[in-house]
Amino acid sequence: MAAIETQSVEQVDKVSLRVLVDKERNRVLYAEAGKDFVDVLFSFLTLPLGTIARLVSKDSNIEAVKFGSISSLYQSVSKFDQQYLWSHTCKEMLLNPRNSMEDYCQKLKLNIDDTSMQYFVCENWDCRRKNSGCRLSIFRNKICYCGKVMNREVFPEYPNLENGFVKKNVTFIISDDLYVMPNVFEASLRLLKKVVDLLKLSLTSKAALTSFILKKNRFVVNPSRRNNLEFLIGELPSDEDRQISVKVTVQKSDEQILFVEAGDDFVDFVYSFLTFPLGRVLHMLQGFSSLSCIDNLYKSLCDLSPDIYLMSQGLKDKLTKPLIATQFELIKQLLPIGVATLPVNYCHTYYDHVKKFVPLELADHDPSIAKSSFVKGPSTYMVTDSLFVSLMSSISTMLFLKRSKVRLSDLEERVIKIGVKEGLSILKASLTSTSALQCGLKKFIKTVKVEK
Ligand SMILES: [Zn+2]
Repeated sequence: MAAIETQSVEQVDKVSLRVLVDKERNRVLYAEAGKDFVDVLFSFLTLPLGTIARLVSKDSNIEAVKFGSISSLYQSVSKFDQQYLWSHTCKEMLLNPRNSMEDYCQKLKLNIDDTSMQYFVCENWDCRRKNSGCRLSIFRNKICYCGKVMNREVFPEYPNLENGFVKKNVTFIISDDLYVMPNVFEASLRLLKKVVDLLKLSLTSKAALTSFILKKNRFVVNPSRRNNLEFLIGELPSDEDRQISVKVTVQKSDEQILFVEAGDDFVDFVYSFLTFPLGRVLHMLQGFSSLSCIDNLYKSLCDLSPDIYLMSQGLKDKLTKPLIATQFELIKQLLPIGVATLPVNYCHTYYDHVKKFVPLELADHDPSIAKSSFVKGPSTYMVTDSLFVSLMSSISTMLFLKRSKVRLSDLEERVIKIGVKEGLSILKASLTSTSALQCGLKKFIKTVKVEK
């Protein structure tokens, strides 16, 4: 029997965690934690992918990491020429995507999401007290339709807001690969069985708690070694009307996708990845994202009985199918993404101390201004294998091909249609691979070839 000892780990902001460590192997067997820590884990599922890319690109105790192709997509947005976007706020919106559950997250003891949570209304008093649809912006100093500046911060009213996600006074057991379960006797028995699984998993995936607590090297799977089968997803109906056509440039000799030539619709689609909450992505991928720890975290939440362990029944749905924030709704969204509604009212007090609730209406993604898209177009874009988006030009294409050292005679263009299935496949690949297009579209370009 290996030597096992318990350690108490206290984070800076005093969220405590008891861990059981196998000293011989220097591995965490499991951790025991209460509401504060479990809330933090579940809050990961509410984070938009763009926020995750931003947070992990900075050094913490661990050096910065790449989040599949999402990191490169994020970088390309920050470098993208603003004049080709609908408004300057589009870029801001994509680089700092708002969390549709920010109201829950801001009450957490540890909230890693540093995205601003401010809301602004017009400085014009007449505009503000309008009984129907006072305009609201998530950016300070936007110009209101009355011509004045929207610079008054307001605090929306959240009715019956719970504090975090799981109930107080319940403890949970968390396995090294982040499966969260209620701390009852039966759970520790089941966990013992999982320890064997853990050993197997450690060969192929990250052991999150071990690296977190014992600061051991992370078990990182080399993306190029991943089996392509991992990127296959179940059969889904493709929506014919919403398909997006793209031209794929393939290296014939090894069937490698070099880049995609696409229009506004595809770029909007790829950009929208940054706005998807992680939990929603897991929902669309039916729990199989290939990020093993996240898959476990998601599965454990799905297995949790909401009436016993969560603050409210509805929270389970909210966390397992989180919505995108209102301003991110696209006219031509291929994927089944739900959109959150705005905080409905804000309250202001009149001189005579009478409280008044005014309904709000978001001005940042007004269809008449932004047409519910990010890029203005019509333009042609080059999207690289790692989802780096730039404007297409003959010079940029030549430079790219020169850098890639490919022979022109080895190139072939194929037109493929991106529907729900293809779109989900790219999204899935983008989470774990820096070759999102190659991994996500490989099997689809083969199909095209057969048809020829
Ligand atoms: Zn105004």
